[in-house]
Amino acid sequence: MQVVTVKEILHGTLDAKQVHVRGWLQNKRTGGGIIFLQLRDGSGVIQCTLRKGKVDEKIFEEFQSARIESSVELRGDVRPDPRAPGGREIQVVDGRVVHPALEEFPIAKQFHGPEFLLDKRHLFVRSDTTLFEVKYFDQKAYLTQSWQLYAEALIASVGNIYTVAPSFRAEKSRTRRHLTEYWHVEAEAPWCDLNCIIEVEEQLLSHIVATLVEECKTELAMFERKLEDLEKVKPPFERVTYDQAFKMIGEEKSGIKWGDDLGYEQEKLLTVKFDRPFFVTHYPKKAKAFYHMPDPSNPDVTLSVDCLAPEGYGEITGGGQRIEEYDALLARIREEGLDPKSYEWYLDLRKFGSVTHSGFGLGLERVVSWVCKLDHIRDAIAFPRLINRIYP
Ligand code: ATP
Ligand code: MN
Repeated sequence: MQVVTVKEILHGTLDAKQVHVRGWLQNKRTGGGIIFLQLRDGSGVIQCTLRKGKVDEKIFEEFQSARIESSVELRGDVRPDPRAPGGREIQVVDGRVVHPALEEFPIAKQFHGPEFLLDKRHLFVRSDTTLFEVKYFDQKAYLTQSWQLYAEALIASVGNIYTVAPSFRAEKSRTRRHLTEYWHVEAEAPWCDLNCIIEVEEQLLSHIVATLVEECKTELAMFERKLEDLEKVKPPFERVTYDQAFKMIGEEKSGIKWGDDLGYEQEKLLTVKFDRPFFVTHYPKKAKAFYHMPDPSNPDVTLSVDCLAPEGYGEITGGGQRIEEYDALLARIREEGLDPKSYEWYLDLRKFGSVTHSGFGLGLERVVSWVCKLDHIRDAIAFPRLINRIYP
């Protein structure tokens, strides 16, 4: 059964229908063989009722003991009810707690001082916030000013999220594809695994390219890029694993050992073999940051993915599935020699209703460089900032 949003339910088109919803327990009240849940999914909040005898005894008990901010999935019938906030409720027939909150949620209804709430900001954002709602293809998303780790905190509040913001990187090397300041498109999605985020990426890139082909023929004609090259950019993109890529370029030719990240030189060897963007998945743990989820079927590699543009351009996006279990994340932080204290807030996100989630970052100037067949990324931005250039 397809998952629907709370917003759709509150619109009334699903009255008397059975629905599948998922989200976080915003609130809970129990009494007399009935549990009232307030479920938040990022699009809205809806009351869900569990009646003893109407649901499995085990499910009733599971929800009886579930703490606020646990992540949950429910199936039930939509009924108009004037007493429920929003005028509708879901009478639950089936459900499960996905990740129970491991502790009591620290932000209660009682008054908290501003300093406390600022320290707990990553959790406080789950209370009702004011954000700009925008249309994202046929879905909706929210604008924010943050990057991945913060985006991960916000998905429990608003659901799918993206930002387009400057990123700053102290890149020491002079390459054709590194700026010190670039426009970074980042997206993060709850209830989304590696395969799901790959599909989002290929749809986004295909949409960008198709729109340019449609609307910018004159501009594209100024570059050597042929429209036929771009017309080939349609989902699904080809996928190779890191292992396959490593074999394709050959150890002796590429100068890297298994486990090393692919740099500009290696990507160049690989991407000349392709005539459209493709994905490299399952990079070794050692080549990726600590938050990448190890592959359950081979923990030496991660559920990560980079999208590489053809003809030598190389990496244009990087991302993948994030670790969702508290203990697993803590172990990775320790393994990397990082201080768990600095990541306390990030670990907290796994304490309170963690869900499967994934995201990616796309370098806007990298995409422009490839689409326009530029020799150097500095020509993809009006005022390039490079290791040796900060003027004008
Ligand atoms: P690279 O290996 O090429 O340095 P990265 O692995 O550091 O990239 P990520 O941290 O995954 O890149 O960042 C996400 C995306 O941001 C990249 O896929 C790329 O498109 C873009 N990007 C990263 N660094 C730069 C940079 N210095 N200049 C322009 N774009 C960049
Ligand atoms: Mn880099």
